[in-house]
Amino acid sequence: MIFIVGGAGYIGSHVNKFLSKKGYKTLILDNLSKGHEEFVKWGEFIKGDLKDKRLLDKIFKEYNITTVMHFAALTDVRESIKDPGSYYRNNVKNTLNLLDAMQKNNINRFIFSSTCAVYGDPIETPITEDHPCNPISPYGRSKLMIEKILEDYSNAYDFNYVSLRYFNAAGADPQTEIGEWHEPETHLIPIILDVAIGKRENVQIFGTDYPTPNGTCIRDYIHVMDLADAHYKALKLLEEDKSEIFNLGNGDGFSVKEIIETCREVTGEEIPTIESDRRPGDPPILIGSSKKAKRILRWEPEFSDIKDIIETAWEWHQKLNNEII
Ligand code: UDP
Repeated sequence: MIFIVGGAGYIGSHVNKFLSKKGYKTLILDNLSKGHEEFVKWGEFIKGDLKDKRLLDKIFKEYNITTVMHFAALTDVRESIKDPGSYYRNNVKNTLNLLDAMQKNNINRFIFSSTCAVYGDPIETPITEDHPCNPISPYGRSKLMIEKILEDYSNAYDFNYVSLRYFNAAGADPQTEIGEWHEPETHLIPIILDVAIGKRENVQIFGTDYPTPNGTCIRDYIHVMDLADAHYKALKLLEEDKSEIFNLGNGDGFSVKEIIETCREVTGEEIPTIESDRRPGDPPILIGSSKKAKRILRWEPEFSDIKDIIETAWEWHQKLNNEII
């Protein structure tokens, strides 16, 4: 059985669906602070928190868990700058609870949701896994701290891990059973789609004076189902008792203005914009090299076209806003 911590959230729920369709049994733990119970459509669900060490021990004793996948974290860069304590408690301390409960119960396979925010302001792109890690936010630092802990645990104990450094997760399940749903929403694509659907009046463009061709930030958008496929492949790697770190991106960058333009094309809506100040903690360009994941995991993104990615997000966005899920 695969234990999916944070499996009611955006990425975790897509991984749960993907693994369930591959025939894996899954157990989901989520405190529902950000996740949605409606997203746990596969596997078993326990509502609970990583603070609760007794619960973790009980779960590991009761269920036949072979691998733990850990998605539960706070992920808002801006919030982490204002309230670092809650990021270190939630993302670092709680992960230690999970790792220690695994140790105690001899469970030794771990897949970690890491982030391109561990790199900070890159000195060159596309970013490879051996690029220096100098995170510029408590969020990025909290994820890097866990990566270091994982490295130490794998050296000291019978323990293997795969850390997956996601670039910008986007899109939704092509069958629209689940998708992106954050409250409040801070991410670019769902905010633009909110404008397209009439929930917001305009999109703020955070910074038009970056050192990029049109002055707006460039990001590497990767479809959430491609991320899910990479987790499945990471699971296979762990079965060979190996530990690795991989970037997961498309290797292509799109500026904020290009994303807005593609959303106009996909939705047929006008989508008014306002030019605003830069948002703190945003590097100008983040583009990842996924050559290592392609070579070792034999992973290949299926959704490499940004328009296809946004189309799945738009399908889901309309469903989310027009129906009660
Ligand atoms: N962004 C923007 N307006 C918004 C939300 C985001 O201009 O309302 C920009 C943001 O500054 C960044 C890019 O869009 O350059 C992607 O931001 P998002 O929050 O989606 O992901 P991040 O790169 O922060 O993980």
